[in-house]
Amino acid sequence: MKKILIIEDEAKIANVVKAYLEREGFEASIAETGEKALRLIKDGYNLIILDLMLPDIDGESICAAIREISDLPIIMLTAKSSEDDRVKGLGMGADDYIVKPFSARELVARVKAHLRKTKKTEDRILSFNNGLLKIDTQSMEVIKGASRFALTPTEFKILITLAERPQNVFSRSQLVNIVQGFDFEGYDRVIDAHIKNIRHKIEDDMQKPIFIKTVYGVGYRFIGTPDLS
Ligand code: CA
Repeated sequence: MKKILIIEDEAKIANVVKAYLEREGFEASIAETGEKALRLIKDGYNLIILDLMLPDIDGESICAAIREISDLPIIMLTAKSSEDDRVKGLGMGADDYIVKPFSARELVARVKAHLRKTKKTEDRILSFNNGLLKIDTQSMEVIKGASRFALTPTEFKILITLAERPQNVFSRSQLVNIVQGFDFEGYDRVIDAHIKNIRHKIEDDMQKPIFIKTVYGVGYRFIGTPDLS
């Protein structure tokens, strides 16, 4: 049974969300404070729903603390709705962001979507575009025709993150978080450098990439088509 941790101090909201999740077959626990959340997190959860406005520790700090120890999906709940706050939330390592007031039904739908996406990276070969590109997750190599290219751990993390969620746009900050586990200023450019290195290994024409596309002003998106195995 999948375990969800609801970090929310408003009892009414927390209880409604818990009830909806339980009705869908999830096991749900509530943490009313950040302090309790950080204690409970060690019990092992599959997904976290995190309210940004808590009485003791702010949600941003909790998000950062969780990211230091785990990459499990985090859906943020917040009353803030500006684009800036949204990007900030995602940059801090949240996977998704829902603005209050929200529909519990929609939240549950998103929980399910994120849990489908979190499959562990097992040792396997991912294949794209009819075998044109393969990623060997055990050796951390890409295979292009008869050639194999080794990826650095950082390049591998970035590529696998993008390739496992084709068409999903990742901001540079999100990628920084995934790679580093935390964000710090000035690192965005480094992501560009890594992407360039990855492209050298997987693209035929750097000017017309067919696997990693730049989304101007935002970040990157993997546009290869996964082969069915
Ligand atoms: Ca709150």
